[in-house]
Amino acid sequence: MKIAIIGGGPIGMEALLYGAMAGADVSLFERGRIGENVRRWGHVGLFTEWKRDRSPLGERLLRERGDALPPGETSPNGNQLADYLIRLASLPQLRTRIFSQTEVKSLTREGLLKHDLWGDPARAFAPFRLMTAGLGGEKVRHFDAVIDATGVYFSPNWVGNGGAPCPGELGLQRYIDYNIPDVNGVDMGRFQHKCTLVVGTGHSAATTLLALADLLGSDSSTRLTWVVRRGAAKDGSLYYIDPKDISSGRRQLGQRANELAQSGNVDLRLNTVVERIERRANIFNVGLSDGTSVECNNLVAGVGFRPDPTLWEELQISQHPASGGPGELAAAIMASNKAAGVGLSTGYAEKTGEVNKPEAGGQHNPLDLLKLDEPNFYVLGIKSYGRDAGFLMQNGFRQVRDVYRILCDNDGLDLYGSAL
Ligand SMILES: Cc1cc2nc3c(=O)[nH]c(=O)nc-3n(C[C@H](O)[C@H](O)[C@H](O)COP(=O)(O)OP(=O)(O)OC[C@H]3O[C@@H](n4cnc5c(N)ncnc54)[C@H](O)[C@@H]3O)c2cc1C
Repeated sequence: MKIAIIGGGPIGMEALLYGAMAGADVSLFERGRIGENVRRWGHVGLFTEWKRDRSPLGERLLRERGDALPPGETSPNGNQLADYLIRLASLPQLRTRIFSQTEVKSLTREGLLKHDLWGDPARAFAPFRLMTAGLGGEKVRHFDAVIDATGVYFSPNWVGNGGAPCPGELGLQRYIDYNIPDVNGVDMGRFQHKCTLVVGTGHSAATTLLALADLLGSDSSTRLTWVVRRGAAKDGSLYYIDPKDISSGRRQLGQRANELAQSGNVDLRLNTVVERIERRANIFNVGLSDGTSVECNNLVAGVGFRPDPTLWEELQISQHPASGGPGELAAAIMASNKAAGVGLSTGYAEKTGEVNKPEAGGQHNPLDLLKLDEPNFYVLGIKSYGRDAGFLMQNGFRQVRDVYRILCDNDGLDLYGSAL
């Protein structure tokens, strides 16, 4: 069975490694460099340690080759994680299977349209047809199975009220920071002695806010406004600190963001959304739903990401109406969030119960959660969670193990030696 993996991030690379070691005929297409999206937030420190960021398989193969790896208890930043992925890419088992600088432009079934053979397993007899664009031009390639691990980092959510662009946003996109700026590094000049407005309460927003708070400490001309669409919890906190969170780094991030919210150093606007954005002479004028407007030099949209369904357009894929994630996995995640008292798991303080992510156990058969209406097509990695930000690479490594159980028709296949 010829398997195409789209996306050379941590999970696409793991899928390639696992597939190659399981004896599968696997090829990977990456539109940029290996680890391209991770490089985009390369300056950000991960909140999980190396032991959770590399799989037992990757670690074993690199050590067998003689590579010195950083201790499992330390945490990398995004650049160090991307360097690790490049090390994996240089393993002789993988080298010839990787097509970087090669974007998958379209994904269809040979000779079939989207509506042909609706819900019929016979669609599997028509191979997948990928059109790729790379240095050698456009090419059509055929595969029996496809793993979409293209991530979400290039499709951020909008700042505007209700999740759609507000007046002014479409035309000003290139000036708004939808990704995490390197406030204490190359972007410092843009932020020091300047006024910044940050929107959102996810972990990316917290990362930016805490970096800006470091600048606040050293200079009083740097100002910070934080716009949050909901209120705080009874104790004044914005981030729910889950005592059972496996990541102590993520707990600390939430804790520090809560302290910042209550410090008085930030102009905090709760229950407020962005209604319009204007920009004149390099200064934003941001209209808020509380009737005020804020003038600022920078506007940072820490409002999360959504899956881009373009590659699914000619396939039979159902997206969850609330999260945009595919198939049964999305349904299980959303049910789990509902039980926990949240819309999406963003760390927000309204969270009341325990999050029971399906891969963590529960009543679901993890193999069924990965199956979609389109036969032999799988979505892995952060894109499989839709708009939910609760994804960790550990979840992705489990998905990789499970998808090869399906693809190799071997429920006992486990190249991690039960280490996950
Ligand atoms: C700032 C930040 C911090 C995070 N910290 C942690 C953490 O501490 N611990 C943790 O476990 N998780 C963390 N995550 C969450 C998650 O694990 C990472 O986002 C991880 O990179 C997801 O891996 P992925 O392979 O699913 O997607 P990505 O890393 O986004 O990789 C997708 C790849 O697909 C490529 N691609 C996209 N479209 C195409 C196409 N059409 N053709 C070819 N290639 C394509 C992209 O260029 C990219 O390289 C963090 C996320 C962010 C944004």
